[in-house]
Amino acid sequence: MNQVKPDAIVIGAGVSGLTTAICLAEAGVHVTIWTAEPTEETTSMAAGAMWGPYHVEPLDRVQAWGAATLDILRRLADDLGTGVRLVSGIEAARELVDPPAWGGQLDRFRMCAADELPPGFAAGWRYTAPLVDMPTYLGYLRRRLADAGGHIERRRVTAFTEAVAEAPVVVNCTGMGARELVPDPDLFPIRGQLVVVENPGLTEFFSEDTGSSPDLLHYYPHGDTLVLGGTAQTNAWSREPDPEVAATIVRRCGEVEPRLRDARIISHRVGLRPTREQVRVESQELYGGRIIHNYGHGGAGVTLSWGCAADAAALTIAALA
Ligand SMILES: Cc1cc2nc3c(=O)[nH]c(=O)nc-3n(C[C@H](O)[C@H](O)[C@H](O)COP(=O)(O)OP(=O)(O)OC[C@H]3O[C@@H](n4cnc5c(N)ncnc54)[C@H](O)[C@@H]3O)c2cc1C
Repeated sequence: MNQVKPDAIVIGAGVSGLTTAICLAEAGVHVTIWTAEPTEETTSMAAGAMWGPYHVEPLDRVQAWGAATLDILRRLADDLGTGVRLVSGIEAARELVDPPAWGGQLDRFRMCAADELPPGFAAGWRYTAPLVDMPTYLGYLRRRLADAGGHIERRRVTAFTEAVAEAPVVVNCTGMGARELVPDPDLFPIRGQLVVVENPGLTEFFSEDTGSSPDLLHYYPHGDTLVLGGTAQTNAWSREPDPEVAATIVRRCGEVEPRLRDARIISHRVGLRPTREQVRVESQELYGGRIIHNYGHGGAGVTLSWGCAADAAALTIAALA
């Protein structure tokens, strides 16, 4: 237990909370994280996780947050211990669609020739992007926070007043927890399920542009393992893996890459993407204290993490001043 009262309490130990706390601690702010669950049980632990600002707004801020994060993840990829690597692969669609506008931000981005695409696909683009092994990366973030003097405590917050009583500034990085804590009824879950399998030797990623379908299709190589996905089920709350969904994920991936049909399953992952119309990074005066919100990142919380954390930290430091 940390005995000295912190300057700032960050609520949440997922990627948003850890990254924000690091930005604060490395700027010399005395920071403590309070978290209901250990990092291992957060949505952040379930992520795939590929850089890509899919379906998040506001566009101007998302572009800046994504670019800032891309820059930092590229640099972290120089160090194997971070869990970040730059991986090449293809994203493809079964219909003729345009590539995402942010594709131009990525290294070696180019359109694919027809013979580079799997059967049944009409358009595709190839690029190199940061791919993050979340168990390793979150461990790295925790070590980096501890090195900078930050602390993590297990504590569920039922009202902001509890934190406001302990620190002049409170940073809200509670993901789906913000729905009750703020409360924010505009925040809803998009459930994601993934299957982790033994890697039969794939070194490139593949991802299908599935539009607004709840059935996603991707595989991400993480050395000895591959993360297969996935789902995007709006307003589904279960955090238990569904065996039928898992079988469908493996079957769909196996149709694109036959080597995945018999891959040995290692584990299942489920997370609730905390989704709202716009990511919320802003300052609010509440209960006689200052609350800095940093939540609602949907399916792009890793992609936006360093950009949002830098803004949330700047708001915190301004409030402390
Ligand atoms: C299957 C799947 C795949 C994904 N793939 C990608 C990807 O490829 N790229 C990408 O960028 N993003 C991806 N995402 C999205 C990304 O995982 C999320 O946007 C991100 O993890 C959200 O992080 P967070 O820290 O805001 O929330 P969380 O990780 O949910 O953390 C919230 C924290 O707040 C704590 N908390 C909540 N309420 C309270 C309370 N009342 N008191 C105390 N503590 C509280 C929790 O215990 C937890 O520590 C994916 C998500 C899923 C589910």
